[in-house]
Amino acid sequence: MTEHSENHGSDEAASPAPAVSGAECDRLSLVIALAAIVLFTITASAILPHLVQAWKGHAAPPDVALTNALVLNVALIIFGWHRYRKLSAQLAEHRAAEAQMRRLAEIDHLTACLNRRSFAVAASAAMSGRNVADSPLAAIVIDLDNFKQVNDLNGHSAGDAVLKATARRIAALLPPNGLLSRLGGDEFVCLLPYRPAQPEAVDHFAARLIDTVSAPVQHRNLAIEVTMSIGIASTASLSAEECAAGDSQRLMHKADIAMYHAKRKGKNRFEWFEDAMESELRFRNELETGIRKGMANNEFVPFYEQQIDLETGELTGFEMLARWISPELGVIGPDIFIPIAEDMGVIAEMSETLMAQAFQDANEWDERLTLSVNISPVQMRDPWFAQKILKLLVTHRFAPQRLDIEITESCLHENVGLVRSMITSLRNQGVHISLDDFGTGYSSFSQLRSLPFDRLKIDRSFIGGLRHEDDSKQFVDAIVSMSRGLKLPVTAEGIEDETVRDVLRGMGSMKGQGYHYGMPEPADAVRQRLEKSGLMRTAGSERLPACDFHGAAADSRNEGAKAG
Ligand code: C2E
Ligand code: MG
Ligand code: MG
Repeated sequence: MTEHSENHGSDEAASPAPAVSGAECDRLSLVIALAAIVLFTITASAILPHLVQAWKGHAAPPDVALTNALVLNVALIIFGWHRYRKLSAQLAEHRAAEAQMRRLAEIDHLTACLNRRSFAVAASAAMSGRNVADSPLAAIVIDLDNFKQVNDLNGHSAGDAVLKATARRIAALLPPNGLLSRLGGDEFVCLLPYRPAQPEAVDHFAARLIDTVSAPVQHRNLAIEVTMSIGIASTASLSAEECAAGDSQRLMHKADIAMYHAKRKGKNRFEWFEDAMESELRFRNELETGIRKGMANNEFVPFYEQQIDLETGELTGFEMLARWISPELGVIGPDIFIPIAEDMGVIAEMSETLMAQAFQDANEWDERLTLSVNISPVQMRDPWFAQKILKLLVTHRFAPQRLDIEITESCLHENVGLVRSMITSLRNQGVHISLDDFGTGYSSFSQLRSLPFDRLKIDRSFIGGLRHEDDSKQFVDAIVSMSRGLKLPVTAEGIEDETVRDVLRGMGSMKGQGYHYGMPEPADAVRQRLEKSGLMRTAGSERLPACDFHGAAADSRNEGAKAG
């Protein structure tokens, strides 16, 4: 046998079935020892009396071979017994190691809670063994809100500390007959028995969870705060067959749907599962699939809404508004798909594709016409956002002075420092920044003063009210005077008729947009409109050189272009 094959042979000996072969050896050694004892009893009863007689000198010594056999027999007993003891000890050690491995495979290593697999087994066992009507169980799925940000901003060790503290806090609130598991990432689940007449006990438990977990977690010199969204489903919502079969997956699925609902309703809250949530989720999943497919098939296109100088009636530019032209669902507005694209993490990609298309369209228009684009707060979390916009401008040779970025007030609450530096770098290149939907959020006067906006857009909900004699007029008046004080030009959104336009005109100079001037239109319709008014770029006019970014940000906007 070669050395190699010998090693291979010994490997095989050490390979997977040691417990079985160990147990067999163990038994074999015991049998050998027992056989040796029986043999000893037989030979010893024949030889020992002779030996004693010979030792006393009354008889000749027994046969040497038989005496040797007896000695050998004794040796065999000692050897067999010793081997039996050794193998038994090895086997016990092996079994203990196996039990430890099994236990480790059942728990989550970071938090020491049950893991997903072992929880499913324990939950199924708890469900199938009980009368659901008399003793229901509530599955409580818990997901930390914005946990990714904790990791991104403070590092993974901080994230781990938050997860451990969360597990400890939940476990401390859970009664002894409850179960707790970390399903993975920042998701936990509890199983809580409750009295059928007292579902409010589960509400109470969920409310305490929300309170307790939101307390700051101390990590090094940081105090990290996280909130949680909770979804609850009771075994009472399952069919008798599902309960009897211990279908814990179905129960968890329902709790998961409720948790997802809690997230969409604003996070930091709990929701009980309701049947309607399931169909809503199915619809949403279909939308997500449709959005992915639609992005691949260029189904997302820019529409354009005219922006007008109210005083002169001149067209000054367009606001780009995204539309999804879905072959299955028809034309879908951004209010439906933008929040989903944000959740899916594809908003930046979608927005950049739309912007690229809009730059190409707007490059055909008269250079005095501006282009406004809406930016999601999710995009503003990207520290490279300003660079990405500037790169797009260079790639498409679009003059930065013609671009107006619209951000909403919600962007200002996330990381004002980052937002300020992005606004500043974009403005340094000549890009203009507007605060959109003003009045619907909570921007403070000091934020407006300290952030270098170029324009305020008054939300259409206030403009619509100008038709009637209600508080809207005073409110809009107040915004216009404040903007004048801050030297911020104003745009009024949602002008639907002449009455509203005239009221706004009476308030001073401003821009306006709304259905009164036309519905948002696709690029072709805009092209036709501009051709009629002689506002397409003329053949001879050159585009800006791609590198003309650091030049003075001359504002061509105020000049306006006469609409046809
Ligand atoms: P927004 O920026 O405030 O856009 C104005 C919205 O008001 C548009 O709705 C427009 O169609 C609608 N509108 C215009 N004139 C009138 C009017 O006279 N009366 C009424 N009732 N409504 C009017 P749309 O196109 O559905 O867009 C909704 C919002 O979606 C936009 O509000 C904007 O915040 C967002 N959005 C649109 N496109 C994009 C995009 O490409 N990216 C991002 N992140 N958000 C977008
Ligand atoms: Mg807008
Ligand atoms: Mg708006």
